[in-house]
Amino acid sequence: SVARSVQETMRLPPLPTIKDILRLYRLRALRQLSQNFLLDQRLTDKIVKAAGNIRNSEVCEVGPGPGGITRSILNRGPSQLIVIEKDRRFKPVLDLLEESSNQCMKVILGDVMNFDMSKIFSENKRQEWEDCPPHIHIIGNLPFSVSTPLIIRWLQAMSERKNAWSYGRTRLTLTFQKEVGERMVADIMSAQRCRLSVMCQNWCTVEHKFIIPGRAFIPKPEVDVSVVRFTPLVQPQIPLPFKLVEKVVRNIFGFRQKYSIRGAETLFPVPVRKQLGKEMYSLADVNPLTRPFQLTIEEFGRLCQAYCSICDRDPRLYKYNHRAATEEREHFDNLYDEEQDLIED
Ligand code: SAM
Repeated sequence: SVARSVQETMRLPPLPTIKDILRLYRLRALRQLSQNFLLDQRLTDKIVKAAGNIRNSEVCEVGPGPGGITRSILNRGPSQLIVIEKDRRFKPVLDLLEESSNQCMKVILGDVMNFDMSKIFSENKRQEWEDCPPHIHIIGNLPFSVSTPLIIRWLQAMSERKNAWSYGRTRLTLTFQKEVGERMVADIMSAQRCRLSVMCQNWCTVEHKFIIPGRAFIPKPEVDVSVVRFTPLVQPQIPLPFKLVEKVVRNIFGFRQKYSIRGAETLFPVPVRKQLGKEMYSLADVNPLTRPFQLTIEEFGRLCQAYCSICDRDPRLYKYNHRAATEEREHFDNLYDEEQDLIED
């Protein structure tokens, strides 16, 4: 194992430290892009270790910046590393790493939000969905403003087996603001339980690996950071379309402190709201006096099924969107108010 650890740490030739790189290339973190860099190799190693064994695997790193995590990935001997970075200022530094990587690394300038990974890995890495996860890993420390909407987008891609999930149950290791990471793993009855907990846990096994204190980053963010690993489940607990589950869960959590039926009623238009809400809970055999954070995913599943049965009777109900309807009503109310003002003037 000594030989192995020597091999692991010797893979990259000696390079200037990330700190020197930042100085040499005059790379300043741009606050408006929420850039915070990790310079401590022990921490970048720890993030990569949290992903699991990546030796001989293909890895995609999202948002590599000056390349701290990138180096730790290369040191662990993947067969291929593709990095996707939006800020072109980092291209020369990443090219330097690419040159040192023995042709194992490739730099792509692009926006990970719209990036399609369905063809970037080797064909022979593809696995059946029901098999073990493929030897493919996605790793990244992105700005929080990107990582949270991105995980929602990727959960949907997983549910449809698209993007990186066309290769099977590809695992993700990502960083989030600590509070968000804790919500992702929050169990029922916990104060942090929310829509994100149900959505993440419905499609994945979610593991909160460890916390990195904010002070480890340069510049220091206001918050601490969670490292979270996601492994897609063979069978989601609620085997229904992503958008449908999201709608039901979002509405139910719409009134966090109230009885959960209050939120569920908003799935339906005002005149039939009370009646259909009651019917939905009765069909699902769920106690309407529970609070949203007390509902198990199984109960959410039964509520989603009940919602479908009711909407199947009148499919127009599927289209009803409480928020849009409220906005529309408010819009008309405002117009009316403006008209009234004009009349009164
Ligand atoms: N991973 C590096 C580290 O840990 O030191 C940099 C972290 S910094 C918080 C986030 C990086 O993600 C920046 O380099 C930023 O330019 C990049 N980034 C932000 N949004 C991105 C996007 N939509 N697509 C690709 N990269 C993005």
